[in-house]
Amino acid sequence: MKAHDGMYIGGRWRPAAGTGTIAVVDPADEQVIAHVPAGSPEDVDAAVRAARAAFPGWAATAPGDRAARIAALRDVLAARREEIARTVTAELGAPPRLAETVHAGLPVVVAGSYAELAASYAFEETVGNSTVLHEPVGVVGAITPWNYPLHQIVAKVAPALAAGCTVVLKPAEDTPLTARLFAEAAHESGLPDGVFNLVTGLGPVAGQALAEHPGVDLVSFTGSTAVGRRIGATAGGAVKRVALELGGKSANVILPGADLSRAVHAGIANVMSNSGQTCSAWTRMLVHRDRYEEAVALAAEAVATYVPGDRLGPLVSARQRDRVRGYIEQGVAEGARLVAGGPESPCATGYYVSPTVFADVTPEMTIAQEEIFGPVVSLMRYEDEDDALRIANGTVYGLAGAVWGDHEEAVAFARRMDTGQVDINGGRFNPLAPFGGYKQSGVGRELGTHGLAEYLHTKSLQF
Ligand code: NAP
Ligand code: MG
Repeated sequence: MKAHDGMYIGGRWRPAAGTGTIAVVDPADEQVIAHVPAGSPEDVDAAVRAARAAFPGWAATAPGDRAARIAALRDVLAARREEIARTVTAELGAPPRLAETVHAGLPVVVAGSYAELAASYAFEETVGNSTVLHEPVGVVGAITPWNYPLHQIVAKVAPALAAGCTVVLKPAEDTPLTARLFAEAAHESGLPDGVFNLVTGLGPVAGQALAEHPGVDLVSFTGSTAVGRRIGATAGGAVKRVALELGGKSANVILPGADLSRAVHAGIANVMSNSGQTCSAWTRMLVHRDRYEEAVALAAEAVATYVPGDRLGPLVSARQRDRVRGYIEQGVAEGARLVAGGPESPCATGYYVSPTVFADVTPEMTIAQEEIFGPVVSLMRYEDEDDALRIANGTVYGLAGAVWGDHEEAVAFARRMDTGQVDINGGRFNPLAPFGGYKQSGVGRELGTHGLAEYLHTKSLQF
């Protein structure tokens, strides 16, 4: 692993202003694998100044030229795929196959989509006697979580660059090494100095300084609802743009006409992937009472194939492991039936949690309402479709979901769900489809043209 001692600001690596460091831990063996500097408000200020200085030039660059830089960035990410995957495995704990296909692979696709969109997007349109210009918002402060360390970065930085914005990134303290690799890739791709800047550091220090900085025009945050709420309030107070991608408690609704085995297996796989650390995970499985026990048996059988230390990685940190175990204990205490897994540690070392299935979960239980962010799935029983809809829509969240059943019925049901994305009968992930939340799952959308539009504002010229 390469050792940089600094922050990437204004096109070069420079020493941090302070002396604080963050230890990076491999969650599979609990060993410290690196240290990175803990950035201070001074570092954030230097990065924002660099981004501001670079903004007029980058904003004035022809979209085709911005597209070429983003394409170069995509190519570097593709060329360094193995190194990226290894780094994500080391600091997040993702099993190698998942690290290669999703953590390293998806960002290449998303960066590629923005290389194409930068070149083809209509940055000018005619509306009656007006020409409407879609102009970059300015300097973007991007604050990202650790769960998909590179995807979360690329899903913000690539559209911001395509729009003509410049960026300061504060990545999660748990996964700063992947963020450094991204900064190296941005450098190699030939982006002009100051267009992309990286400040590693702690959320309440570097993150907060970035969110509050008057030189930042738009804050794009992905993470917990608690922090998102604060960032939204800060941005509102300063009258600046904000995009929030927050938590989820998505429903996997299995209608009576569904292929039950397929729906249950896909549902378990969806939750167990990335050890359940996915904001859009279908953590509530809703099954009609007539087929409920059959579904519980299928779920127990499916989850048994997720062996901790093999197909199932650890959680990112001791803190997350303890948080998830606390939810499992609470589920038991509130009367849910433990069908598989439980709060005990399945491995002697590493932040592992047993893949856990709860049955007889009712809507008022904590495990049916709060985001657990671990390999835990709750099976809930419904009486009829209206009951299923009430349960599905009955949380403060609305990020994703799934419906299985006869095509027409499934689509009709999906139309009634209060959520930003619904996969029908195993519909595939689409990297161009808008991704984002209804209700407290967030504000704004990422990916595709909708993700690009977040970083633009309009100016109308009348003739
Ligand atoms: P978090 O604290 O919200 O972290 C997200 C990002 O915000 C990190 O870069 C974090 O820095 C930063 N941050 C923290 N406090 C901040 C502040 N006061 N001002 C500005 N930035 C700040 O999330 P977490 O603690 O890592 O995870 C807790 C829970 O959040 C999870 O269990 C899960 O439920 C949810 N979560 C959701 C997503 C998602 O994709 N929607 C992703 C991760 C977590 P640090 O890394 O230094 O904390
Ligand atoms: Mg945190």
